[in-house]
Amino acid sequence: MKDQKSLDFITALETGDRDLMQRVPRADVHNHVALGGDFQSWTKRAGLDLKEGKHHFPDFTIFQDEIEIILSYPYKNPTKKQTWDRLFSLFAETYELAISDGISYIEPVYDSTFLDFFDMNTELMIKTIGDQIDSYKSRITIMPEIGIMRTFNIKDVERTIFPCIESGFFKALDLYADERVGPPENFKHIYKAAKKAGMKLKAHAGELLDADFVQRSVEILNLDEVQHGISAANSKDVMTFLADRQTRLNICPSSNIQLCQVDSYKTHPLRILLDNGIKASVNTDDAIIFGRKSSDEFFSLYETDLYSTEELNQIRLNGFPDTL
Ligand SMILES: [Zn+2]
Repeated sequence: MKDQKSLDFITALETGDRDLMQRVPRADVHNHVALGGDFQSWTKRAGLDLKEGKHHFPDFTIFQDEIEIILSYPYKNPTKKQTWDRLFSLFAETYELAISDGISYIEPVYDSTFLDFFDMNTELMIKTIGDQIDSYKSRITIMPEIGIMRTFNIKDVERTIFPCIESGFFKALDLYADERVGPPENFKHIYKAAKKAGMKLKAHAGELLDADFVQRSVEILNLDEVQHGISAANSKDVMTFLADRQTRLNICPSSNIQLCQVDSYKTHPLRILLDNGIKASVNTDDAIIFGRKSSDEFFSLYETDLYSTEELNQIRLNGFPDTL
């Protein structure tokens, strides 16, 4: 017997009822906090005259340029205080979009270098982020994560990441940016410290590089979950490795399609991954750029006719921690 929420989710898919879909609790566990909002809403609120991007990035550098355009608003020219205030307003956009789409649980990742806006005062940063999270607590459960830009100098990373890990405020660790730069070996000691601190271990892998890189990242960093991980579908051995280890992949179909790693929803490797016993969740990644919400992703997957409503419901449930 299915619970009412699962039944509603299935009805929403079958009837294309967006309102009903948005009333069913869903999780977003692959979400970059400064880039998770709605483009139109943000530019309007910030008073910016920016044209929305093309949603097509044949090269990762073109995608990075797009991020730079968005982040030039907080980072270019303003004072430290203004930069933080503007970043803060981008976080609010992320939470507002998630809530408007019916997301009830989110794991947003904050960058460890945000600590520089507080002159390395970890307590003050945590209080500021924590107060904002608290202000949303009646509407959404927010589990903050701390993240590492893998392209940054390791000494700079160490300077900011260790105080964040030691703070106990962040519940998980993530590693992101162009995975062709900054091999997992560079971060092993940081992941060890995070494990010791009881944090969940995540990292981006297999978005651009191959299946072996996914396995290597999981083994070296002792990952609990992989952000993307889709190239694992090209190797039976790596899929068996992930399935045996019950390592969840937090997948973002629109991100993969727009970054030209996958042609369409129909050919997305999610189908192959599920067929090989891999646990997956579906998420948004950078909604302000991709222009797609969690509900859009579920409808698009359903429209391929490749997934049963039960499978999609299981994917929905996979995003929640067992304790919820
Ligand atoms: Zn990501």
